[in-house]
Amino acid sequence: MSVSEFSLIEKYFSQQRYSRDDVLSGIGDDGAITHVPENMRLITTVDSLVEGCHFTSDTSPYDVGFKAVAVNLSDIAAMGGEPCWATLALTLPQADTKWLSEFSKGLFTLLNKYRVQLIGGDTTRGPLTITIQINGLVPEGKALARHSARPGDLIYVTGSLGDAGLGLLVSEGKRHLGQQHADYVSEKFLRHVPRIEQGIVLRDIATAAIDVSDGLLSDLGHILDASQVGAKIIVDHLPLSDAVTHALTHAPTHALKTETVETNSWDLVLSSGEDYELCFTVPANKRSKLEEVMAQFTCPVTCIGEIQIERELQCVLSTGEKVQPARSGYDHFGS
Ligand code: ADP
Ligand code: MG
Repeated sequence: MSVSEFSLIEKYFSQQRYSRDDVLSGIGDDGAITHVPENMRLITTVDSLVEGCHFTSDTSPYDVGFKAVAVNLSDIAAMGGEPCWATLALTLPQADTKWLSEFSKGLFTLLNKYRVQLIGGDTTRGPLTITIQINGLVPEGKALARHSARPGDLIYVTGSLGDAGLGLLVSEGKRHLGQQHADYVSEKFLRHVPRIEQGIVLRDIATAAIDVSDGLLSDLGHILDASQVGAKIIVDHLPLSDAVTHALTHAPTHALKTETVETNSWDLVLSSGEDYELCFTVPANKRSKLEEVMAQFTCPVTCIGEIQIERELQCVLSTGEKVQPARSGYDHFGS
């Protein structure tokens, strides 16, 4: 590694304000050493952001740093984990100091907020790619998984759905909204709040959980596949922000059923990705306990349907009318 690469690491990545007592050796050695308490289990997540795929070249470096951490924290949340340590593999076309300075601000804002220490990484030259790994802890036997939803369980989501998808459409100029709605959805697209606290509370209540990164149908589908069950979703019970409600209600009515107008259909809510809300299942007899513990958070949770024995994912309106989604969700290798 050249001197400039060492000084880059020193200047931008080894000066974190927050540090943890359980880091025995952080940045600077060949590997980091951390202490894992005996009754805890380690959760490991990794996610990459690639320029041109996950973000455009005009995305602010602050937002890129923030989002690279946020997507990983969301996976830790979906496991019921408490995030602790991060590593960063950074591939840069050049050592652009202004970019690095803003990027590291976004990165550390979120790492510090959730008390996660950056303990190592790798820095290479090439097309802009940010890979972050986060390690978290969960008490033995308490991690949330995808495979344990049971028929009769209620299906919940945190927050609201479709905001990030609408934010993306607005940023691409494919959809126009008033300033207030546009600002709201673009904030949700770029700076979503990881549901860490909710995931921790769910350890003792939920039977299964996932974070909605590729769209509700796709991600709930993973729970259904892993648990070998099906589900019925009441589409008009899905939690929607004012901005998404506005976008849906100002759609031409025919668009609600066509495959082509993705900006104007239920697909925005059912299938657009990057909301990073938690979707989870709860036994019906824990409903009041769930609603009681979730009341401590400003973020709402909403019951959107039920797990069924029949292995299909049905979407209906509360009138009973069926909704046929045009697509299921985002797939990097899909057509
Ligand atoms: P090695 O030569 O053993 O691969 P490096 O020279 O790549 O080690 O890295 C030196 C130290 O700097 C290591 O502790 C590594 O974890 C850390 N490091 C390298 N790149 C980054 C980065 N982008 N962010 C944080 N730490 C980094
Ligand atoms: Mg190395």
